[in-house]
Amino acid sequence: MADHSNAGCDAGVCSRSDLALLHNLRKSTMRYISTRGGMPPKSFSEILLSGLSPDGGLAIPEAYPTITTAELTAWRALSYPALAFEILSRFVDDIPPADLRDIINRSYTAEIFGTPDITPLKTLEPGLHILGLSNGPTLAFKDIAMQLLGNLFQYQLDKTGDELNILGATSGDTGSSAEYAMRGKRGIRVFMLSPLGKMSRFQTAQMFSLQDRNIFNIAIRGVFDDCQDIVKAVSNDHAFKQAHRIGTVNSINWARIVAQVVYYFKGYFAATKTNDQQVSFAVPSGNFGNICAGHVARMMGLPIKHLILATNENDVLDEFFRTGVYRPRTTIETRHTSSPSMDISKASNFERFIFDLTGRNALQVREFWSAVEKGNAFDVSQTPLFAKIKDYGFVSGSSNHAARIVTIRDIHQRYQVLVDTHTADGLKVGLAHRETGVPLICLETALPAKFAESIQEAIGHEPERPAGFEHLEDLPQRFVVKDADVTAVKNFIDEQCGLST
Ligand SMILES: *Cc1c(COP(=O)(O)O)cnc(C)c1O
Repeated sequence: MADHSNAGCDAGVCSRSDLALLHNLRKSTMRYISTRGGMPPKSFSEILLSGLSPDGGLAIPEAYPTITTAELTAWRALSYPALAFEILSRFVDDIPPADLRDIINRSYTAEIFGTPDITPLKTLEPGLHILGLSNGPTLAFKDIAMQLLGNLFQYQLDKTGDELNILGATSGDTGSSAEYAMRGKRGIRVFMLSPLGKMSRFQTAQMFSLQDRNIFNIAIRGVFDDCQDIVKAVSNDHAFKQAHRIGTVNSINWARIVAQVVYYFKGYFAATKTNDQQVSFAVPSGNFGNICAGHVARMMGLPIKHLILATNENDVLDEFFRTGVYRPRTTIETRHTSSPSMDISKASNFERFIFDLTGRNALQVREFWSAVEKGNAFDVSQTPLFAKIKDYGFVSGSSNHAARIVTIRDIHQRYQVLVDTHTADGLKVGLAHRETGVPLICLETALPAKFAESIQEAIGHEPERPAGFEHLEDLPQRFVVKDADVTAVKNFIDEQCGLST
């Protein structure tokens, strides 16, 4: 909290805002530590722009804020932005509340998300729901966190007068979501590398049609791994990185997790009538960011029975929850599937859950990840940790191409609702774990319009485009083409920054 040194009430009369101030003063401060124990506690704003902690770990609250039954009751009636403020203000105590509210109100509008609900709940049948998280500018759930991140970044940079050059590599969703969130933002440039000609026409058009002067699409003559290698090489050049204020928006950013906590509450309220009910969430998972937010919501006290983790053929996480062995895959072992945003070889946010599972034992986390960083596995199956997994509500399953096509077809026939391939993986695994009397909320992570080919395969025709996306591929495109060469990319960044080398 900011320093409210004169928070007393004159003559014993307290206005409502005085009371709020006193309440905030009593609240303990929110500090962040690292999952590897090597970072002095920091405030939210101090970790906002940083990626990994200096010790290689991930930032996590010193303790999760918990909510009372009374608070949960009061929150039930709130609009999305009002709910987001209540939740975020428990994690952010070094941005004045009025500023935080303004940032949130500008991020979650009907204009940006197509509906004042932001995340509308669709009921397929009693007790079975889809939470619509994909109504943002790029038609995937990453917009929910990224839109907030864009405004938080700008707020922070306005205060310090700093600049930020976001450098990333994308094979689709994350890159375009970041570009749409950062477009037109003062002090921020986005340099996004993508493999030339390897993204779908829709994805390419979505990114390359942006004409904003602070957005730079760099198509690399190579594959996605070449793009990622260039980003790594630039990030490892500390002098260049510092001189050019290079930053990232990767999925380990804590602000992204917090933003995603909000819709677990929103979905819970929409699917229940009273707070004595429990629900389960099915979550199509890749880097463990989305479901990590569900874990945080549950730790805060949201009545979640099960967090149902769904993977595709790349089942590194399902394997862990079933067997206790976490065995990250190599790039060659990682399969290209028809739910491509879940094609991961290791799950970057997973460390946050393991930190909690070990009872916040940073030493143990360090041991586990020293194995992971050597390309090895770690195994908790013979330890008490394995039995503890169920205390955290996690269950899991995996899906594959045939299963997701059947699921898309089935859901369409039965409910006249069309889902995308990722959401289908979630539904497939979620339905396998469905329990009578426990509402099941499946998170929709993208719209079918993005994956026309698989939809065609499932139902015999292509999905409809949402309004405004009909002629996306005909729009003029703005991008440069570069060889898969670190120097070429550095030179380009340098020219745009107007710096001399
Ligand atoms: C990113 C993404 C996922 C995976 O989410 P994580 O937070 O990485 O687990 C699933 N579906 C879609 C469409 C995505 O873009």
